[in-house]
Amino acid sequence: MKVLKFGGTSVGSAQRMKEVANLILDGERKIVVLSAMSGTTNTLVEISDYLYKKNPVGANEIINSLEKKYFATIEELYSSQEYKGKAKETIKTNFDYIRSFTKDLFTLFEEKVVLAQGELMSTAMFNLYLQEKGVKSALIPALDYARTDKNAEPDPAYIKDKLTAILANNPDQDIYITQGYICRNAYGEIDNLQRGGSDYSASLIGAAINADEIQIWTDIDGMHNNDPRFVENTQPVRHLHFEEAAELAYFGAKILHPTCITPAKLNNIPVRLLNTMEPSAPGTLISNETELKKIKAVAAKDGITSIKIKSGRMLMAHGFMRKVFEIFETYQTSVDLVTTSEVGVSLTIDNKRHLPEILDDLKKFGTVSVDEEMVIICVVGDLEWTNLGFEAKVVESLRNIPVRMISYGGSNYNISILVKAEDKKRALQALSDHIFNKKN
Ligand code: ASP
Ligand code: MG
Repeated sequence: MKVLKFGGTSVGSAQRMKEVANLILDGERKIVVLSAMSGTTNTLVEISDYLYKKNPVGANEIINSLEKKYFATIEELYSSQEYKGKAKETIKTNFDYIRSFTKDLFTLFEEKVVLAQGELMSTAMFNLYLQEKGVKSALIPALDYARTDKNAEPDPAYIKDKLTAILANNPDQDIYITQGYICRNAYGEIDNLQRGGSDYSASLIGAAINADEIQIWTDIDGMHNNDPRFVENTQPVRHLHFEEAAELAYFGAKILHPTCITPAKLNNIPVRLLNTMEPSAPGTLISNETELKKIKAVAAKDGITSIKIKSGRMLMAHGFMRKVFEIFETYQTSVDLVTTSEVGVSLTIDNKRHLPEILDDLKKFGTVSVDEEMVIICVVGDLEWTNLGFEAKVVESLRNIPVRMISYGGSNYNISILVKAEDKKRALQALSDHIFNKKN
C-alpha cells in the first residue's frame, strides 16, 4: 500500500480538495495523510496567542471569521444538502471546542488541543466528501496510533502496533484518511510533531505499514537543483539519495521537512515528491540509491554565525577540541560546520541565543573572533572522495567570491561552503552556471 501526503495548499480550498479526490481515486487502496487547510494552523496559533494574553474577545473574532471560511468551503465542496448539513455539524463541534477555551485558563496543554483542530477538520471534511461521492473511505484518527515517547520523539514500535491493528479491524476500505502533524505524547495528551510535521507523519506511517512508497504532494514540481527564488534556470532533480535529500532539506530546501527522511530511509521506503498542479510530472524520487558521479543540487542556509578560536597557550594540546565543544554543549547550541588548523578551529552555529556566554567561555582557551550574517552553501551529490574533479569544480565556481570556510569529507554526499550573506545570490548563481548550466 502507498501513503500519500497532501500539504495545506493542496487541500486549501473546496476546489483543491476535489482535485485531490480525483487524483487519489485510481482503484488502488491507499493511506491519505492530510495537513490542515493552508493558513489554518497559523490562525490557530494566532487564536492561542490571544488566549494566552487573556483576550477572549480578540480570540472570538478570529474564531468566528475562520468558522465562516470553513462554512463557505463546505457550501462549495458538497453537492447534497445532507452532506452540507453533516459537514457543518461536524465542523461546528470543532469550533465550539475551540471557543470553550476562551473561558478557562490557557496553557501549553490547551494550545496543543487548539492546534490539533486544523488537521481534524480537513480530514473530517475530506472523508465526508469521499463518502458523498460513494467512495469506501474511513477516517483513521492519528490520536489513536501516533505517539511520542518521554523524549518527545515518535515511538515507531507503538505506532506500528496500533496502526496495524486499526487497519486490520477496518479491512474493507479503499481509502484510509488520517491526520498529519498531530499525535499524543507519552502521557496520552494531545501533542504534535512541530510545525510542518505532517511530512514526518507520512514517513512514520509509511515505515509502520512498510509502504511500497511514500508520496509527498505539494504544489511545486519536486526538489530543484538550486533555489528558484534566487537563481535563474533551475531544474527539478529527478532522483536523490536519502542522504542528499536530508542535507538539502536541512540546508534550506523548503520542500521537505528534514525530520521526514529518517523513518523512510531506515525502512528503505522510497519517497516521491509530486506536484498536485501537474500530477503526471515525474517529480523527485528519493531512495537509498546513489546516482554515481553526479552533482545534484545546491541549497543555502541563512542566519549563520561563524566563530574562530585561535589556541593561545595550549597550542592544540590534547583535549582542546573537547573543551571547545563542551562549551557549545553546555549552552545546547549545535555546531554545523567545523574546520581546523594547527593553531585553531573555526565553526558555525545557527542559534545565537547563547552567543555572548559562549564567547565569554571560549575566551578562556584562546583568541576568539566572530563573523555574523553568514550563509552556508551546501552542494550535494556523489562527492565520494575518490571521484576526481568534483570538489575542484565547486571551488572553481566560486573563484570570484570570498569564502570563509570549506567543509568536505564529512560524508560522501556534500561539500559545504561558508560565505557572507551579501554574496549568497552570486554564489548560488555561480554554482548553477558552472555546474548545471555549463556557462563557463
Ligand atoms: N498544519 C501544520 C503546520 O502548518 C503541519 C503541516 O502542515 O505539516 O505546520
Ligand atoms: Mg507543510
